[in-house]
Amino acid sequence: MKTGNLRKMKTELGEVVNYSLVLGDELISMNQYLGKVITLKYEGEINCVYCGVKTNKSYGGGYCYKHLISLPECDMCIVKPEQCHYHEGTCRDPEWGQSHCLKPHIIYLANSSGAKIGITRESQVPTRWIDQGASFALPIMRVSERLHSGLVEVMLAREISDKTNWRKMLKNEVPEVDLFEIRDQFFDSFESDIDKLIEEKFNGSDVEYLEEDIVEINYPVLNYPEKVKSLSFDKQDVIEGKLLGIKGQYLIFDEGVLNIRKHSGHKITFTSGEE
Ligand SMILES: [Zn+2]
Repeated sequence: MKTGNLRKMKTELGEVVNYSLVLGDELISMNQYLGKVITLKYEGEINCVYCGVKTNKSYGGGYCYKHLISLPECDMCIVKPEQCHYHEGTCRDPEWGQSHCLKPHIIYLANSSGAKIGITRESQVPTRWIDQGASFALPIMRVSERLHSGLVEVMLAREISDKTNWRKMLKNEVPEVDLFEIRDQFFDSFESDIDKLIEEKFNGSDVEYLEEDIVEINYPVLNYPEKVKSLSFDKQDVIEGKLLGIKGQYLIFDEGVLNIRKHSGHKITFTSGEE
C-alpha cells in the first residue's frame, strides 16, 4: 500500500513502454500489474502540483488557482505555441521561457488514431509521443524555438489533424498511414510557404529538415476495450479492477479507463490484489 499525490506516469521506451505510477516520492512500476487487480483510492485531498497547497478544485491539470494564473506553464501559449509571446517581453517568467521555449523544438508526424502533426521540445522526445499514445512517430523538422514550431504546425494543420482522438487511440483503432509519404508531400506542397515563413519570422535562425526513421511504440496492453468509458475521481473515490493495459497516460481496466494525468495532485492510495 502506498499513498501520495499523483503525478503523470513516468515512461521509458523499450520493446514495450515501461510505466511507473508516481505517488509523491514513490515510484510504482506498473507493467507487473497487468492482468491483476489493483485499487486506487482517492483520499479526498488535492494538492497543487507546484506549491503543494491544498486546493478544493484542480485547475489546468493539478494547479491551485493562484498558480494557474501566474505560472508560465499554465499560460495559453503552452496550448497554442504559435502564440508564444516571449519576444514581446510579456512571458510570465522569462527564465522559464528561456529554458523551455527558447530551446530546439521538433515538428513531428504521429499516428495514434490517424495521422496528426505535433510539436515538442526536443528533450521531450519520445515522452511526448508516449503520453499521447502514439503507435508511430516521425520527426520531420527541427527549429530553434517553440514559437517557430508552432507557426509551422499551424500551417501544416491546414491539411492534417493536430489532435489525437483518445477514444480511438484507446481502442487501438490505428489506421495504416505512410508517414514518410505524408512528410514528403508536405515538403512539396508547403515548400514556398515554409520558406516565406522562415524568411519573414525566423530571423535567420536554424531550420533543419530531418530524414529520420519512424519510431514504433508498443504499449503494455492485454486487451483493448471495445467501448471506452471514462472513470474519474470526481465521480467515485475508489477505482478498482483488473488492469488490462496502459497506453498514453491511461490505465485501462475492465470497467473503463482512467486518465492519470488529469488527476495530477490528487492524493491517492494504491494497493494491489496481493496486499
Ligand atoms: Zn499552487
